[in-house]
This record gives sequence, C-alpha cells and structure tokens, in this order.
Amino acid sequence: MNVQEKLSELHQEGNYRSLTHLQHEGCYVFKEGKKYLNLSSNDYLGIASKIDLRNEFLSSLDIPSSGFSASASRLQTGSYPEYKLLEEKLRLLYHTESAIVFNSGYHANTGILPAMTDNKSLILADKLVHASIIDGIRLSSAKSIRYRHNDYQQLERLVHDHASCYEQIIIVTESIFSMDGDEADLPRLCQIKKRYPHVMLYVDEAHAFGIRGASGLGCAEENGCIADIDFLVGTFGKALASVGAFVVCSNLIRECLINRMRTFIFTTALPPINVSWSLFILEKLPHFSAQRKYVKTISQRLRRQLPRTAGSSHIVPMLIGGNDDCVRISQELAGYGFFASAIRPPTVPAGTARIRFSLSANIPENEIERLIQTLAKIQPL
Ligand SMILES: *Cc1c(COP(=O)(O)O)cnc(C)c1O
Repeated sequence: MNVQEKLSELHQEGNYRSLTHLQHEGCYVFKEGKKYLNLSSNDYLGIASKIDLRNEFLSSLDIPSSGFSASASRLQTGSYPEYKLLEEKLRLLYHTESAIVFNSGYHANTGILPAMTDNKSLILADKLVHASIIDGIRLSSAKSIRYRHNDYQQLERLVHDHASCYEQIIIVTESIFSMDGDEADLPRLCQIKKRYPHVMLYVDEAHAFGIRGASGLGCAEENGCIADIDFLVGTFGKALASVGAFVVCSNLIRECLINRMRTFIFTTALPPINVSWSLFILEKLPHFSAQRKYVKTISQRLRRQLPRTAGSSHIVPMLIGGNDDCVRISQELAGYGFFASAIRPPTVPAGTARIRFSLSANIPENEIERLIQTLAKIQPL
C-alpha cells in the first residue's frame, strides 16, 4: 500500500481525520483558549465531570488492595474479586442467569459473534449497526445478511426464508442508533425471534445504558423485554463515565464466551480500580432519574425547533443534505461557541449530511435556548 497516496485520497474525499486536543470543564471544552459547549459528548448523565462523585469513590477505596493493573488476562491471574462483584450486580439488576464484563464495547462486539457462531449460523444485522458489530460479523464464520434499517417486514421475510437452512440465526441490532438517534422496536424484534426456537436476539445498548429505563438499564428495561434478549450488551464508557462493557446472558452463553471468545481470552483484563468505579456508578444508577428526565426534556425541546430531524432520543440530528452546507453550518456554530460534529458520507448515506447534537444532563437549559436562537440566526428554520 502506498501510504502517501492513501492519505491524499482521504484528503480529497474530505475524510481525512486528525486528533483535536481539548481541555474539559463540565459541559464545556476549550480549544486553543476558546470555550465551546460540548454537543458531541457521550457523557449523557454528566457523571464524567462530577468531582464530588470522584472524591466519594476515592475516599471509599482501600488503596493497598486497589490494583491499577490486572497484570494478566481473566483466564490467567487477572480475574480479581472486583469482577465478580460487578458481574453479580449486573446479574441481579437485569434478573438474568449470568453477566460477563469485557474490556470495551469494541472487544464485546468483535468477540461475541465469532465465539457464538459457526458456518451453520446466519447473522441478520440492521444496515446501520456500529462498526464494531460489522467487524465481529467479518471475523465470524457465519453467513450474514444486512436488513434495511429498522425494516422488520424484510427481517421477517429473511427469517422465514432462511429458518430451515441454518442451525441458528442471530438477529443483531442497536437499541438507539448513534447517527439518527432513532430506536429499534424491541418488542417487535422479540416477537419475531420468539416464533422460532433457534432464533436469538443480540441488542447493543451502548447509547441507551444509563440514560433510558426507570433505573437506567436501557431501552430493554423501558420496554419490559430484558428476558427475551439473548445477548444484551451495554458499555461503561458512555453514560456510566467509566470504561469496559458487559453482556447479560444465560449461563451457557457465558461459559461458551469464556472458552471461545478471543477478545476475552487474549487480552489483559481491565484494571480492578476501573472495575470498582463502574460498580460504584452502577450502584447509583437508579438515582439518576432526574437527569434522565431532564435530558429527555431538552432533547424534545431542541428537536421541536429543527426543521429536519429524525429519531426520538437524546441524540438529535439536524439533517442538512449537502456536505458543504453541513461543514459551513458546523463552522458557524463553532464561531458561536458550539462544538457539534458534522457527519458526512460515507458515515451516513449520500445527501444526508447532518450536524449531530448529543445532549447531556450537565448542559443548562439556557445553553439549549442559546443554541436554538443561534440556529435560527444562521439557518432559516
Ligand atoms: C461506542 C459504541 C461501542 C464501542 O464501545 P467502547 O466501549 O467505546 O469500545 C459499541 N457499540 C456501539 C453502538 C457504540 O456506540
């Protein structure tokens, strides 16, 4: 591969990426001395900036027994008591047989599908699933078909047509999709999977865990369908302001993952201290109802003001269309002190470039009002 050529290609397509160094302060970020409202954060509950929580956690720690490294994989000597406590808590919260913790959502999604399938399996995945799930599909020896985004009639047809040809079918979706902020119809998916004994359901709740459901367990909790989901994946790096991921599942699945999942077996486990922080936040999760409600309120407020939007969650896209317009509006917003990403093809379909606002509980209402007024100024609503 000619590296220089590849990079020039990316430049020409407008897809060249580079790192931006930012300083963080609550809901604001600072870039070269200028202050911006952070509308691109996944810290949906505003926990990442809460100093009092950090202090409370640190003062609860027993330093001599708090490892800053696991120094081995879980299967060697890295399975510290902290892991057992966190998995036990997850199991109890979700009322499932089992739970297992991974280093990240990326590890979870690239590892679970290859471990749980073989060439007699079929994976049916939503067209818009996250890159980590796509990589998991690629690494598996299963056959795979992507169905049109949230098109359950097509999915039903695919399940019906292929049911007799495979030993196992796994339907894979996210609960909240990160680019449109829209949601999967989980009860409908459960209905489809329950018609066949060999169809399983895999739901990635990365953008919903913490922020949705009465006690923050996600969209499956909100829809009362946790028990019908075979693989319910959540991540600790977004609303939980930590690091890592988990799946809640049956004992049998957990046992299979421990034995076959390469991204679990061949990697050093997360540091016990991070696992303790995840547990510390998880135990407080039910008490963040006010934050969940507030984020919903400001999301609805913002969505109402946008001429072209989509979805129903705290991820609010403003559809623009053309790439150049999208970049222009994003730059104008930056001029007014708003940090929001311009999302362009190939991340989203051609002609649907958009600004993506992801809202957090630590954004004050007056900043949302200022955003709405600014949008009215720079683009006729
Ligand atoms: C962020 C994200 C992941 C990856 O999780 P990490 O813990 O950040 O690796 C997986 N799936 C979805 C849908 C995500 O949005």
